[in-house]
Amino acid sequence: MNAIPQAATHAENAAHDVASHLHPFTNLATHPQVGPLVITRGDGIFVEDDQGRRYLEAMSGLWCASLGFSNARLAKAGSDALHGLPYYHTFNGRSNPAAIALADKLIALAPVPMSKVFFANSGSEANDSAVKLVWYYHNAIGKPAKKKIIARKNAYHGVTVAAASLSGLVPNHRDFDLPIDRILHVDCPHHFRYAEPGETEEDFASRLADNLEKRILEEGPDTVGAFIAEPVMGAGGVLVPPATYFEKVQKVLAKYDVLLIADEVICGYGRTGEMFGSTTFGLKPDILTSAKALSSGYVPISAVMVNEKVHAAIAANSGKIGTFGHGFTYSGHPVACAIALETLKVYEDENILAHVKSLVPQFQKALHGYEGRKYVGEVRGVGLIAAIELYADPAQRVSFDPAKKAGARLAELALAQGLIVRAMGDAIAFCPALITTAAEMDELFVRFERAMTIFEETFA
Ligand code: PMP
Repeated sequence: MNAIPQAATHAENAAHDVASHLHPFTNLATHPQVGPLVITRGDGIFVEDDQGRRYLEAMSGLWCASLGFSNARLAKAGSDALHGLPYYHTFNGRSNPAAIALADKLIALAPVPMSKVFFANSGSEANDSAVKLVWYYHNAIGKPAKKKIIARKNAYHGVTVAAASLSGLVPNHRDFDLPIDRILHVDCPHHFRYAEPGETEEDFASRLADNLEKRILEEGPDTVGAFIAEPVMGAGGVLVPPATYFEKVQKVLAKYDVLLIADEVICGYGRTGEMFGSTTFGLKPDILTSAKALSSGYVPISAVMVNEKVHAAIAANSGKIGTFGHGFTYSGHPVACAIALETLKVYEDENILAHVKSLVPQFQKALHGYEGRKYVGEVRGVGLIAAIELYADPAQRVSFDPAKKAGARLAELALAQGLIVRAMGDAIAFCPALITTAAEMDELFVRFERAMTIFEETFA
C-alpha cells in the first residue's frame, strides 16, 4: 500500500502541514494562516494541487525540473536502479557503474577541460565543497594564507554555512550569524539598477572589475583564494552579466592568481541555450558546481568539477595523510547517478539545446513585449531564464516601497490565473521547463498577461 495519503482533502493536508512541517524560505509566522499550496501530481510542464487546480509551472519548481514533471524515462531509470543497486557509497575507493559513467559523461560535457568530478546532493553542498577545495588546495600548494573567497552582493549560492556565507542576500545571513569570516562580497553586476546615468554596460563592467582589483589589493592578493560567480545570477533577480563583465573580471583574477568557481547550479545543462552558462559568457572556471537540471530535479544530486591544476595538488596532499577527508554518505549515490545519467541522455536524444534555441526568440520576444508597460522597469534574460522587474515609476527608476510587496502581489495574481512564476523582491522570474512547446509558451504568456492586466488595474 502507498504510504502517502492519496485522498486527503485540502483542509486535512493544510492542518497536518501547519501542525508538523517547518518550511524553508517561508514566513513561519504567517504560514499557519496562509497555509500550504499542496502539489499532488505533475503532468508535463503542469502541476496539480490537492483541490484539482492545474498550474503551468513557469519556474520549473526551483529552476530545476528541466524535463517537466512526468518524464517516464527518468522514472524508469530510477526504478531500475532501485531494483539493481539501491545504495552504495564511494568512500575508500568504492564505486558503482552509474557514478563512473556519470563522472565520465560530465568530464566530456564540461565547458573547459576538467579533470575530476566530486558528487554531492545539493547546490549548497557542492558550493560548500568548492570552498573547502579552495582552502585545501591553497594549503596543499604552500599558500595557507590565500583563503579568502570573493562573492557578490545578491548572489545565491545556497544555505549551508559556507554557501550561505557566499550568498549575498540579507535573509540568508541575518540572525544566522553569517557570513563566516574570509568571505567577502563585491559589487552586484546589475547594470539597470547600479549604473551611473549614461554609463554603458562596458563602462559599468570596467568599473566593477576595477573595484574588484582594488578590493583584492586592499585585502592583499596573497590572502585571496577564489572568486565565485553564477554566470547569470538567479535568485538575486535573474541578472544577466553586463557586456564584457566576465572578460574583465577574469583578467583581474588571472593577474592575482585567484581561482574562479562557476556556480552553474541554475545555468548548467541547457538553461542559457548552451550546455553551460560558462560557454555563453566565456567563463573559464577552475572549479564548476552544478545540480538542479543535472537530474531535472527528480532526485537530489550535485557535481563539483575540478581542473587538473586543482586536482593534482589535492591528490598529492591527500597522499600525505592517507585520505582526502571530505565526502558524503550519498556522494555518487547509484540511484541519483542513474537518473542524472538518463537526464543527460534525454537531453541528447531530444536534442534539447536545439529545442531551447528554437524557443528562445518566442520567449524573449514575449517578455520584451512588456517593456514600456505601466510598472515595468526592466526586462532581462538569456536563453530560457528571465525576469521582469517592477518599478513604481519606471521612467524615473523609482522602485516600489518593499512593504507594498508588488512582486509578490503579481505572482499571486498569476497563481490565480493558473501560472506559477516567482517573485524575488519586485523581480518576477520565469524559468520554464526546457521541454516547453511553442503552444505552451504562448499559453504561459496568455496567463501572465491576464495577471499583469489585473495588476495594472488594481495595484496602487
Ligand atoms: N547555487 C545557485 C546558483 C542556486 O540557485 C541554488 C539554489 N537555488 C544553490 C546554489 C543552492 O542549491 P540547493 O538549494 O540545492 O542547496
